[in-house]
Amino acid sequence: MNAGAPILPPATIGILGGGQLGRMLGLAARELGYRVAVLDPDPDCPAAAIADRVEIGAYDDTAAALRLAADVDVLTYELEHVSAAMVATVAEIRPVRPGIRSLQVTQDRLAERAFLGEAGAAVVPWRAVHTVDDLRVAASELGFPLRLKASTGGYDGRSQFRIADNTAMVGAIARLNAHHGQSLLAEHEVEFTAELSVVVARGADGSLATYPVGRNRHDEGILVESVAPAPIDPDVAAAATALARRLADAVDLVGVMTVELFLMPGGGLVVNELAPRVHNSGHWTIEAAITSQFEQHVRAMCGLPLGSTVLRAAAATVNLLGTGARRPARLAGLEDALALEDVHLHVYDKREVFERRKMGHVTATAATIELALGRAMAAHAMLRWSEEG
Ligand code: AMP
Repeated sequence: MNAGAPILPPATIGILGGGQLGRMLGLAARELGYRVAVLDPDPDCPAAAIADRVEIGAYDDTAAALRLAADVDVLTYELEHVSAAMVATVAEIRPVRPGIRSLQVTQDRLAERAFLGEAGAAVVPWRAVHTVDDLRVAASELGFPLRLKASTGGYDGRSQFRIADNTAMVGAIARLNAHHGQSLLAEHEVEFTAELSVVVARGADGSLATYPVGRNRHDEGILVESVAPAPIDPDVAAAATALARRLADAVDLVGVMTVELFLMPGGGLVVNELAPRVHNSGHWTIEAAITSQFEQHVRAMCGLPLGSTVLRAAAATVNLLGTGARRPARLAGLEDALALEDVHLHVYDKREVFERRKMGHVTATAATIELALGRAMAAHAMLRWSEEG
């Protein structure tokens, strides 16, 4: 692959999406001396505070994306739900990294399954579903319980239903179709031993780097905790790493990608999802790895050498989710939480808090993942969203 000339500071990096991922990505870019411009519908989005410019527009507003692109040197996306048509148009005037293929393959679960199948990666048995009859057939072939997922637009457990038996089928499909009016994917609900993820980076020259495997815990589809290095058999870790590298090559990645995996009782690995971007399950790399996933993404997209992915310490990240009714966000308990050793608090500066919204995270480092997790959880327990607002 021809890497071309590197894009050097003070070039401007355009980020499609201004949430917390864009914020942390932009911060890493700024440290290296890059300038940052963001597209987001919300002028008060988390990335606004660290951006030189915010172009206001929805994630499918091609005119706004073109205005953003006009004054940047390279673009990336912080979520895979940006419109592929918009990205394709923007890519005609500026490089977008990772490219359109990574986006198309991962923003549609059905396309992703097809890609994974071609790449020889194991996945949970699944069927495409458009009607209740399709779902009945899928249920008889796959067996209950099922997970019914929207093929596009779902994240953090949204657009996903668990179907325990026949009685739940019609309601689930009606709710998902009403929301999304599009195709669905039904898959068998598996009993995994652990959820794992691998953050892999691929440079514009095809060079690869992988971080140690992380172990994740989700609650109703939303990530609550990650630890690294995952306490797993070294052979499993090696297999997960090799798989991530293979998939990064297959999707022609330039940037970082997270491969989310289920570790099955026999030691096998199945891929649940790919995210061709910085990812919540890699936040621990900020404090615990020589190069954070955010800096790594910037390095890759700008054609710079990839950084070391070696760990400085074991790490645990616990997400700080919103609680209660929608109200202005005021965090209490920082004085106690920050008094703990090796605890790092990241607050995303979202104006409003509500139940289960991702508001921030706590990372702790220590000699072991048990110690790190204990610290992160202790800090987390001291933090709360004030009722007064
Ligand atoms: P997803 O939206 O596909 O990333 O799923 C979010 C989370 O739901 C996963 O990380 C798992 O914890 C759980 N989940 C998704 N699919 C399945 C499945 N087929 N079997 C068991 N748990 C699942």
